Amino acid sequence: MPELPEVETIVADLRPHLVGRTIERCELSFPTIVRHPEPEEFVDAVAGMRIESMRRRGKYILLSLQSADPRIVRTNRELPGPEPRIVRTNRQLAGAEPLIGRTNRQSSGPEPLIGRTIREGGGGGGDLLLVVHLGMTGQLRLVDAVKPLEKHTHAVFFLDDGRQLRYRDPRRFGRLLIGTEDGLLSAKKMPRLGPEPIDPEFAVDELYRRLRKRRTSLKAVLLDQGAIAGVGNIYADESLHRAGLRPTRLANTVSRRSAGKLHASLRQSLELAIANRGSSVDTYRDAWGEAGGQQEKLLVYGRAGEPCFTCGRPLSMVRIAGRTTVFCRRCQR
Ligand SMILES: [Zn+2]
Repeated sequence: MPELPEVETIVADLRPHLVGRTIERCELSFPTIVRHPEPEEFVDAVAGMRIESMRRRGKYILLSLQSADPRIVRTNRELPGPEPRIVRTNRQLAGAEPLIGRTNRQSSGPEPLIGRTIREGGGGGGDLLLVVHLGMTGQLRLVDAVKPLEKHTHAVFFLDDGRQLRYRDPRRFGRLLIGTEDGLLSAKKMPRLGPEPIDPEFAVDELYRRLRKRRTSLKAVLLDQGAIAGVGNIYADESLHRAGLRPTRLANTVSRRSAGKLHASLRQSLELAIANRGSSVDTYRDAWGEAGGQQEKLLVYGRAGEPCFTCGRPLSMVRIAGRTTVFCRRCQR
């Protein structure tokens, strides 16, 4: 599952290519990959929008959108002439995997302007965001339009430079959202995320305070996106090993000194992984379809039963919060 370093790699790679580009339209072949708003509204809302900025927050990819040219938006919705290609495609491919854009557009009479409502509703709640969460097996790729569609491609964003941003996700645990940050939070489509562990502003005391509040295992706290954003199974195990802390240890029993070690080790494991372009332990690929390099450098993740690099003892495995957890009984206390 892509975690902070993997998502950071994708965002850093794509940012210079996507910022300033306009999304001309979007086609969905698996509409339920859109979790907010309805898929038809999502397709309406992204058409004609320019990508103003792109950033990562936790494991989320956030693209800030602004209307590029009001005429493009109007053309998509109101022009009575030739039907938009999305709808036509939808009808023609009724048999096979349908490329569903707007399912009920024809019958719904006058355009409800839902897309516009979403956009204009952004006034007080911040920018309109296109949000991508890769789930377990999601991949976001920037490709030339001539490249054949890979299996499990659920969404295609057609860019004004002729390229396509494609979302594919064999296991379909990922999601696409559009809305303002406030809107998505209040609709409970995005959780309130804790601080970024690699943010220079994130201090040891902040981590210590968060650990002291929790009567649960250190591993469970690290996996909790509301406590600390972006850490998943790989980097939780790696950080705890580097800090010499046992994953089962109750968070509220940790000393300030140990919190300091964990703080440093979180940064170390995440920044090292970013430098190595992420871990391809499963299906993770970057925006160009290439594997990362960190998987060969992991200290404990995926190495249960193999010798600890520090003491040589076989690494132990337990399940915590439903997740496989690997650690060294000698080095981690
Ligand atoms: Zn050891």
